[in-house]
Amino acid sequence: MARRGLLVILSSPSGAGKSTLARRLMAWDPSMSFSVSATTRAPRPGEVDGREYFFRTHDAFAKMVADDEMLEHAEVFGNSYGTPRGPVAERLAAGQDVILDIDWQGGQQVKNSGLARDVVSIFILPPSIAALEARLRTRAQDSDEVIAGRMAKSLSEISHWAEYDYVVINRELDAAEEELRTILRAERMRRDRQPGLTDFVRTLNEEFEAR
Ligand code: 5GP
Repeated sequence: MARRGLLVILSSPSGAGKSTLARRLMAWDPSMSFSVSATTRAPRPGEVDGREYFFRTHDAFAKMVADDEMLEHAEVFGNSYGTPRGPVAERLAAGQDVILDIDWQGGQQVKNSGLARDVVSIFILPPSIAALEARLRTRAQDSDEVIAGRMAKSLSEISHWAEYDYVVINRELDAAEEELRTILRAERMRRDRQPGLTDFVRTLNEEFEAR
């Protein structure tokens, strides 16, 4: 019997390197996958519907919420974002780990959902505010005004760091990635995530008694 998948919540302020780290984890273990969120925000150049996000109208988004299709949803930067429930539940049941790149509001909802026991929540911090701003600027896909708004939001996002199981400071990508791998290796080995364990120990007992 396979273990259930881990539901890995990755949160951080914009520009802390979360998306890069998520991509690296999936390259390390291709059985892990990223949950594609739905959003009402407009696509940025290069973003493809169904890959980065499912880009939806406000009405279509509201219908998904009303039909209880969202595992969680929240307003971020004036737009709605949400995690479609179906694909996540299927992958966890199939023993595949799923990465959710969601904000703290979504993180709280998932931790209070029926999938709570599968959750491993990780908060990524930038090494400094200067580094955070530099990363947002190099990305250069957003206007100065949008960047200023995101910097302000970053501080409120950071204030939720203590609600997470783990905190990784992204000083350097290779080191941060290794820390994430360590977390996942250990979480996969938790006793309650090893479904064959009771049977295995029973065989040990039987073997002992048969000597
Ligand atoms: P962006 O617009 O830069 O792609 O994402 C903005 C913020 O929305 C990020 O902090 C990201 O974590 C968050 N976000 C993306 N998808 C979801 C989602 O499905 N649910 C929630 N709660 N937040 C999301």
